Amino acid sequence: MLEIIRIHNELLGTYGDRGNSDVLQYRAGLRKIKARVTDISYLDPLPRTGDIYLLGGAEDAAQLLSLTALRKGSILARAANKGAVVLAICAGFQLLGTKYITRDEEFAGLGLLDVSTAPGDKRLVGDIAVKSPLFELPLTGFENHSSVTTLGSEAKPFASVISGNGNGVAGLDGAMSENVFGTYLHGPVLARNPEFADLLLERALGTSIEPVVDDLATEYAKWRRALI
Ligand code: GLN
Repeated sequence: MLEIIRIHNELLGTYGDRGNSDVLQYRAGLRKIKARVTDISYLDPLPRTGDIYLLGGAEDAAQLLSLTALRKGSILARAANKGAVVLAICAGFQLLGTKYITRDEEFAGLGLLDVSTAPGDKRLVGDIAVKSPLFELPLTGFENHSSVTTLGSEAKPFASVISGNGNGVAGLDGAMSENVFGTYLHGPVLARNPEFADLLLERALGTSIEPVVDDLATEYAKWRRALI
């Protein structure tokens, strides 16, 4: 049983990123792999036993509440160090960095990725297309944020931006390690880019999974390619 932990959806659920768990569960099911999705409130301790942890986008104040809760016991960092997969979108991605700076204050992040986030000078809203070395096809999504994210020397970008803004710095989007992925793409990103869901499943299972025939996803991928 694959354990998918949806973290603080009541805080990190503003942009519909909760759908990422549905896509993972569905695509695991296509391979006859059972997956359970568990919602964890910010009032509850984070389980240590997750195979995949998901964080979504949020308003600034909500994201700070989430950060405070996630700091307790460094459970997410410990799980990631042991190989659990983490997918974090926008505010969630910002929380995984070393520093999150607002107009009023500076906060230490959770430290899973060597990135730091600070206020930008305008809101970055709209469609976004990126090219990640992990995938043959460009990925698409939408973004809506005002902070910008700078990669530290240890960080590897998730993708380069084809159109839109992403991190808002150096034409890059997100950051990643072997099992931790941060990006600015809402969508939900896994619904728009199912190959990303399959990669996360493979990383979580530690083995490759069978390709599946999914006509709707194939059509959608063709449409995405035509967009670029
Ligand atoms: N509050 C953050 C920002 O504006 C994140 C927004 C989001 O998650 N979409 O930068």
